[in-house]
Amino acid sequence: MNNLCKISLSLQEIVPTVTRRAFLTNTIAVTGIARPWISAAQSRGTRLILLGTGGGPRPRTFSSASAQVIVSNNVAYVVDCGDGVARQLAFAGVPLTILRHIFLTHHHSDHNADYGNLIWLAWTAGLSTRVDTWGPPPLEKMTRLFFEMNAYDIDTRISNEGRMPLVPLVHVHELRQGGAVMSDDNVKVTAALVDHPPVVPAFGYRFDTRDRSIVISGDTAPSDNLVKLARGADVLVHSAMYPPAIDRLVGRVPNAAALKASILSHQTSAEDAGRLAQASGVTTLVLSHLVPADDPEVTDRMWIEAAQLYFRGTVILGKDLLVI
Ligand SMILES: [Zn+2]
Repeated sequence: MNNLCKISLSLQEIVPTVTRRAFLTNTIAVTGIARPWISAAQSRGTRLILLGTGGGPRPRTFSSASAQVIVSNNVAYVVDCGDGVARQLAFAGVPLTILRHIFLTHHHSDHNADYGNLIWLAWTAGLSTRVDTWGPPPLEKMTRLFFEMNAYDIDTRISNEGRMPLVPLVHVHELRQGGAVMSDDNVKVTAALVDHPPVVPAFGYRFDTRDRSIVISGDTAPSDNLVKLARGADVLVHSAMYPPAIDRLVGRVPNAAALKASILSHQTSAEDAGRLAQASGVTTLVLSHLVPADDPEVTDRMWIEAAQLYFRGTVILGKDLLVI
């Protein structure tokens, strides 16, 4: 199934898709047929896999919280660690042992809830190489306290299973401003400060590999810094909300008016995401971190047409496990 076909999937149609995957998984044991999403993740070209495309930390049926992975030359670069990121990587066919870098855009729980869990669980899955993590303060403290909190299990596995010590594998880098972040044989990573009040700092990241340039906005209101960061990129993954549906979303909480005002002030509408994509000259815009998520009254077509009002390139509506 190609990307354009996937765009037209409605939420209801995803259920049979999952069922079909389960069928294929069961079929492989008999036939040895390669799973398409695994071959995509492991091919040599750079692949972006959307792991979680819903906005907000509340666990949902169809969309996980924010996370994506860029796989280049069999190395995994994870951006954001919403709830379930390790399991989503397993679903995507990305071995946890190839995890090398984790980038956090900001410290909202729908982006960092499984930050420590990802490293810890990858280690139980056999990860034995260095992992570098990058993001705003207090990333160092969060990492240290996470390992302290889970020292019992970590120490037990070292002594019982012969695993190497976990803590020395992890190297934390706190980011306070935009600019060059890191580079290796596969990728050069650049960050820009984005506008997500009251969370400061919040970052968007750009990944330039040999064959592609991919930008992840993180959560942001329309941001000039992000437009500059994304200039000329192949793919821009931008957070998006659908303002007419926000009333229904906030209706569940007691302070609905304040929450609505807050959401509108620190996020970007799908229309504006299209404007920003056009301004930055990217080829493909991917709408993700969808607010509201899993709302059957906001159809795929409504999301895409909102972005297409101002953007003449390709618009893809983010779905969990979509390979781009
Ligand atoms: Zn946020």
